[in-house]
Amino acid sequence: MTAYPHLLAPLDLGFTTLKNRVLMGSMHTGLEETRDWHRVAEFYAARARGGVALMVTGGIGPNLEGSVLPGAAMMTSEQDVENHSVVTRAVHAAGGKIAMQILHAGRYAYGPKCVAPSPVKSPISPFAPTELDEAGIEKQISDIVNAARLARSAGYDGVEIMGSEGYFLNQFLVTHTNKRTDRWGGSYENRMRLPIEVVRRVRAEVGPDFILIYRLSMIDLVPNGSTFDEVVQLAKAVEAAGATILNTGIGWHEARIPTIATSVPRAAFAWVTQKLMGQVSIPLIASNRINTPEVAEDVLATGCADMVSMARPMLADADFVAKAEAGRGAEIAPCIACNQACLDHTFGGKLTSCLVNPRACHETELVLTPVEVVKTVAVVGAGPAGLSTALAAAHRGHRVTLFDAAREIGGQLNMAKQVPGKEEFHGLVDWYRTMVDKAGITLNLGRRVGVEDLSGFDEIVVATGVLPRDPEIEGQNHPSVVSYIDVLRGKVPVGHTVAVIGAGGIGFDVSEYLLHTGESPSENLPLWMREWGVCDPGKHRAGLAPDGPHPEAPARRVTLLQRKAERHGKRLGKTTGWIHRATLKMKEVSFVGGVNYERIDDAGLHVSFGAARENPTVIAADTIVLCAGQVSERSLADALAAAGRPAHVIGGADVAAELDAKRAINQGTRLAASF
Ligand code: FAD
Ligand code: NAP
Ligand code: SF4
Repeated sequence: MTAYPHLLAPLDLGFTTLKNRVLMGSMHTGLEETRDWHRVAEFYAARARGGVALMVTGGIGPNLEGSVLPGAAMMTSEQDVENHSVVTRAVHAAGGKIAMQILHAGRYAYGPKCVAPSPVKSPISPFAPTELDEAGIEKQISDIVNAARLARSAGYDGVEIMGSEGYFLNQFLVTHTNKRTDRWGGSYENRMRLPIEVVRRVRAEVGPDFILIYRLSMIDLVPNGSTFDEVVQLAKAVEAAGATILNTGIGWHEARIPTIATSVPRAAFAWVTQKLMGQVSIPLIASNRINTPEVAEDVLATGCADMVSMARPMLADADFVAKAEAGRGAEIAPCIACNQACLDHTFGGKLTSCLVNPRACHETELVLTPVEVVKTVAVVGAGPAGLSTALAAAHRGHRVTLFDAAREIGGQLNMAKQVPGKEEFHGLVDWYRTMVDKAGITLNLGRRVGVEDLSGFDEIVVATGVLPRDPEIEGQNHPSVVSYIDVLRGKVPVGHTVAVIGAGGIGFDVSEYLLHTGESPSENLPLWMREWGVCDPGKHRAGLAPDGPHPEAPARRVTLLQRKAERHGKRLGKTTGWIHRATLKMKEVSFVGGVNYERIDDAGLHVSFGAARENPTVIAADTIVLCAGQVSERSLADALAAAGRPAHVIGGADVAAELDAKRAINQGTRLAASF
């Protein structure tokens, strides 16, 4: 008897059957753009072997003007068919099914040739689109239909037509972006004509026995977005036009409400899909922040949807479904929704991967082969760098001993998990614990390791992490001054008025920690919806609360300081930095930049501004928290070097600047692949 009966139940689509209820949602990985089709094939084949019922590729352009970026993958020629066939053959050989997403970006296409219903520039693009005339609209439809035809020739099991997230088809639906007065604009019937026509003509082209998923924006989260009545009307029309399945889209890309970041509660939008259940007779897929088999099972068991879409969780663990089937759910590497190696990479023009699983999209290049000569390996430091080395080395067959001075594994992840909105880090540390036990790693906790403890090992790995940087501010020994470590470990009382020195990732996190009391909104959906101003789209258009966001009152008055004169949080994650800034702004944090720290005394923190040290100011503070960056903890590495003992130094112990868990895990895994 499985713990996930709904999740693992097959789904009969009439002409074909899906073996379970898991769809791997579309992700733009950048793999297709490498033109290394065997690498693309292995990425998808690994997920097919891992048991997912149906996968959707990243968005593939139907023509140049509709492609997300110049050079983005398209499906327009026989050569494209040949390339994509490499992928579909590999997926089918692995027992999987795959649909190609046809993505026409409309005004979101990054280039001067972009087209849209009306010449209204998007706030997130520098390019104003050209308004399409009747012939131009017909060209877009026939190019999409052609892409679907070619996808079928390439061996795909279906296509997904991207109709949400504010892309081309979505842009026709709402008056915000569609100002037309012809048959493609004006009334809702006219505005939805294009999506319906696209579905109808694609179905006519591909025949009845081909999966046609339509991704429908169920809650736009932008001003003047669709009402829920319009969503229902569209869903019914899309079904009638020939769709096999409706997938859920949440929010336009330009929406100022987080929809998939780690601070968004799990399955936060499943209730939106549920509102559509019973209104159509084709299966509905719920999406966004579903990341464990338990959450997925609950979404299905409570009748929110017929299937679940998980995209990033399939980067974190290609074997998600197979492990759930085998009753090994605790072994699934969790997606912590950090976006650090996936979406941040995509938006930074880099190949996607995963913080938790650096092999994602590197399947053919980072290979953990079984070892021929078994070595004894000592890993000192059970933070992410040491943990990833230990697991990968043990996976290859080495005998590993993992040491840490602390009584628990996880290193700094144990501080990260204390921050409201970062609760997913608990799951990551728990997963590491499960895997360390399963891998048979000898764990040696609660004792600081010296050179004398490391005799007899074939390989020594120093992953001792970091120490807080000493900012050397006059008077910093004042009783009001504490370090972020003491604060996050709950070791010191913190007053009502707080100055935080240093506005890096930790300064932001410490501020969020100090601003909250009580339950984290990330664990309380109604509280989170109130905080961001999300409401039922059945009551208010597009799901935007008419009175806007209502954050809880801040628990403290926080001033966040940095010496740089740049915008606070400029170096935070590309896709999440704005959320951290918005959260702190909502909590009335004062951002002070361009400061010199002059001294600390009973009056508070004395600062001046600029190179000329002007405008001396005292920032009164009951507590001053030092978050001034980190330096490498190299005492063991130096002692080993002095004793002439070769060692590998990784993670923060290697380079502290700009260190994060992504780099630590990647470096640790790659090291273990090499010895
Ligand atoms: P550490 O995690 O520092 O681990 C080093 C370990 O070595 C420690 O457990 C220590 O006890 C042990 N050790 C040291 N010396 C010895 C010795 N001689 N003998 C035995 N054991 C020893 N990163 C992200 O990517 N995303 C985030 O969202 C994020 N949020 C963060 C939030 C906070 C509040 C903090 C503090 C950090 C955050 N980070 C985040 C940073 C991330 O946690 C670090 O980059 C990462 O933990 C560094 O990994 P590491 O393995 O090199 O070192
Ligand atoms: P950081 O990002 O390097 O920030 C350090 C801050 O301290 C900066 O604001 C810096 O700004 C200030 N500073 C540096 N030297 C100083 C000095 N001598 N005196 C006073 N202030 C000084 O480091 P961090 O915040 O400690 O974070 C450590 C690592 O953890 C980072 O690399 C980060 O990537 C990672 N992390 C990531 C996340 C995430 O969400 N992805 C969250 C937390 C931490 P000025 O020089 O302008 O003063
Ligand atoms: Fe999930 Fe972070 Fe990995 Fe992206 S990088 S898949 S958000 S764990």
